[in-house]
Amino acid sequence: MSLIAEIEAERDTLVEIRHDIHAHPEIAFEEQRTSDLVARRLADWGIEVHRGLGQTGLVGVLHGSRGAGKRAIGLRADMDALPMPEHNRFAWASKHPGRMHGCGHDGHTTMLLGAAQYLARHRDFEGTVNLIFQPAEEGGNAGARAMMEDGLFDRFPCDEVYGIHNMPGAPVGSFGFRTGAMMASSNRFDIIVRGVGGHAAQPHHTVDPIVIAAEMVGVLQTLISRHKSPIETAVLSVTQIHAGDAYNVIPAEAVIRGTVRTFSEKVLDEMEANLRRVAETLPAVHGGSGELNFYRAYPPLVNHAAQTEFAAKVAEQAFGAARVRREIDPVGGAEDFSFFLQKVPGTYIFLGNGDGEHHSAPYHGMGPCQLHNPNYDFNDALLPVGSTYWVRLVEAFFAR
Ligand SMILES: [Zn+2]
Ligand SMILES: [Zn+2]
Repeated sequence: MSLIAEIEAERDTLVEIRHDIHAHPEIAFEEQRTSDLVARRLADWGIEVHRGLGQTGLVGVLHGSRGAGKRAIGLRADMDALPMPEHNRFAWASKHPGRMHGCGHDGHTTMLLGAAQYLARHRDFEGTVNLIFQPAEEGGNAGARAMMEDGLFDRFPCDEVYGIHNMPGAPVGSFGFRTGAMMASSNRFDIIVRGVGGHAAQPHHTVDPIVIAAEMVGVLQTLISRHKSPIETAVLSVTQIHAGDAYNVIPAEAVIRGTVRTFSEKVLDEMEANLRRVAETLPAVHGGSGELNFYRAYPPLVNHAAQTEFAAKVAEQAFGAARVRREIDPVGGAEDFSFFLQKVPGTYIFLGNGDGEHHSAPYHGMGPCQLHNPNYDFNDALLPVGSTYWVRLVEAFFAR
């Protein structure tokens, strides 16, 4: 391990900050205390702070001692927690009922703070580092997009932008890189099937939307197996069917809901068009009608090749090639850093959180240390690792 000694020396402070944020989790666009904490720390270290981007989001601007220059790098951490209870009982467990840092964004925020503190003391470069602390990554709230709508990249132009997410199950402090599509787009759909309601004993006087809906669920599976190229990846899951209230009434309407995940915009466009065709034409075969509402939440996260190569080399040099995996498998989750990558080249990486070896009985719950699990906890061993990676990335960026 090749941690920067000065960051390593701040380990206890970083752990303290992380535990403080963990104990006070705030969900999408409510990250007021967290935002205050980050702003106060940045200001203490002499970093210029700009607040109110995407409501609770903020940007710390750090110019090099050789001048603001023309080049700028953006580093991003997410700050929000989840609307879920925490089952851990350690001292820093959530003090906010029904709120938990179950995805490790407390750790992401702290790793970036650790880098900010170091960089504020060592500004020996020409250029600008934009430290982006974003709200509302979870639940399709798109805090990243909200910051962009408030002028993030117009007010704080970045030539390149980078992100980190911790990854349970991957060895502690290992790095996972991938060029191209790394995370899926996430999309929701509602299909409303309209028939004609009536007496269940006289089906011939009705158009039964339940029978149509049942058939439609089967047909939707063929969008994956028959209408999409077999070498492309997509998921379509029907997760809700709602219809009817009585034993002897055929309802007038049925609603099908579900999710679609794809790793490219092209496949997403095809999936939406095919869904619309099935939703609108299949009911007509039976004398009913149908309507599709399709909501695109996050686009696929697509890492840029040059920046991925650059960042992977930085990690290899800092931590050794054995700790760096270059082409990890894509994952089916979604992440709103994808909005940044649509506008600015960069790369998003996974930092191994381990298998829960940092859990200590009896204070941790009994469940697995997986993201969004009530027994999850960010592994504090990663704090100096992530901070060191951020600093090495900045140094290499300006040395280029
Ligand atoms: Zn999450
Ligand atoms: Zn997350």
